[in-house]
Amino acid sequence: MKKPTTNRNPFKIYCDVFGHNYQVSKKVTSHVKEYTCKCCKKQLTTNSNGNLTELTPKYKEINMLLEDFYTRRMLRLKNKSFVSSIY
Ligand SMILES: [Zn+2]
Repeated sequence: MKKPTTNRNPFKIYCDVFGHNYQVSKKVTSHVKEYTCKCCKKQLTTNSNGNLTELTPKYKEINMLLEDFYTRRMLRLKNKSFVSSIY
């Protein structure tokens, strides 16, 4: 007889009891970050209101666009100051 497989993550119980142990997993912009719980791998992100919300595929998409936009802007700023430091 096969043992029924459960999706229940033992760490999830720990989180339910002691609370999640979030760590910054990704810095999207200077004020938007993604957090991952060290125990159950639940992910959160900063939304446009500056509050923490569950990292849904939709938010992942938004963050990817944000990160792209932010990186480009940073690169442009960097290049600008680099050029101006030569002349
Ligand atoms: Zn957790």
